[in-house]
Amino acid sequence: MTAKTVPFSAAELKRIAGRHPTPFHIYDEKAIRETARGLPRAFTWAPGFREYFAVKACPNPHILKILREEGFGADCSSLPELLLAQKAGITGEAIMFTSNDTPAEEYRQARSLGAVINLDDISHIPFLAQEAGLPELLCLRYNPGPLREGNAIIGKPEEAKYGFTRQQLFEGYQVLRDRGVKRFGLHTMVASNELNPQYFVDTARMLYGLVAELSEKLDIRFEFINIGGGIGIPYRPEQTAVDIPAVSRGIAAAYDELIRARGLHPLRLYMEMGRMITGPHGFLVTSVLHLKDTYRKYIGVDACMANLMRPGMYGAYHHITVMGKQDRPADTLFDVTGSLCENNDKFAVQRPLPPVERGDLLVIHDTGAHGYAMGFNYNGKLRSAELLLQLDGSVRQIRRAETVEDYFATLDFKGL
Ligand SMILES: *Cc1c(COP(=O)(O)O)cnc(C)c1O
Repeated sequence: MTAKTVPFSAAELKRIAGRHPTPFHIYDEKAIRETARGLPRAFTWAPGFREYFAVKACPNPHILKILREEGFGADCSSLPELLLAQKAGITGEAIMFTSNDTPAEEYRQARSLGAVINLDDISHIPFLAQEAGLPELLCLRYNPGPLREGNAIIGKPEEAKYGFTRQQLFEGYQVLRDRGVKRFGLHTMVASNELNPQYFVDTARMLYGLVAELSEKLDIRFEFINIGGGIGIPYRPEQTAVDIPAVSRGIAAAYDELIRARGLHPLRLYMEMGRMITGPHGFLVTSVLHLKDTYRKYIGVDACMANLMRPGMYGAYHHITVMGKQDRPADTLFDVTGSLCENNDKFAVQRPLPPVERGDLLVIHDTGAHGYAMGFNYNGKLRSAELLLQLDGSVRQIRRAETVEDYFATLDFKGL
């Protein structure tokens, strides 16, 4: 079970909404820092442990700066994400560049920043060599295919477009070795929003076993494994957060058995979690515009799917708190809708909520990762502001809301 609480009172949120019109996403700095600190603390046994925050989950430089201060690197997958990491002061090997179907200029940018490049395919070895030159350090992304089961969001590994096959890994590292690459990493990402801690232990065990085989067969030495992101969060109150210390204990046992015992210590452990770091600490705040009573009861709010795509895209559950009415019985079923001309623009379907009035503030939980980030402009919808609830309780706007001028900025109105 997970208590679905909010880091402000109804009166405080009303005051915030008085200065910053809804809808907006608001992030809780204190809680982000606490979660961020918990991760390395759980892995003190692991030499050179590092978390590279997946920038795509919450691409705001103020959030990246907070995470940099907590010792995190950045996992980037595009040119703008690389530049964002750089602007937040994250540089060199504190950046992991995990992309796929990558354009040449992005490899050149990653090279010039000194980022750790993680290749998605064996054909990218000659491509990178030609377009940007091979660096001294390279990482390859493994896709275990039918050797591993996937999960609902990421799908089955053999249907996933990412990564090298097992056979290609052996060929790939051999080519790199023969071309003079000296430093090696091994990466995989096979789960998304996974709540079973054993999944991540199995992933590390799989990579440790592969490192042992590859090291022996090719006579190369690995610096790190990267188990990717994908630790889930309890979106639903009846779910429970992943027990990180249990994940750590499981991985430590695999490390002793497969790495230490074979004389391959030290081998660093890297992760690139996004969701579990910021997800639970962001909230989409929206006002009730209309109440509609037809074949169902509807609450129409001023946010829409353009501000949070997960419910419409995955049918994902996001908890909703009606501010100031937390103690009232949730005895009426509502669909909570936005204004897109799409019937899947619903934040909740047949959700029991307390009685709601126009003007009430609704807080949609767990929007700190893959929330604002997945926003879009369909139907002429403008993306919202992002706010930061700072350590001293004050609120800072860390991104303004889009205006119609932003929406028009790429259009050419001349000669109409
Ligand atoms: C999306 C992604 C992540 C982060 O995933 P979370 O579910 O947010 O932890 C990490 N690595 C790669 C390669 C990704 O594509």
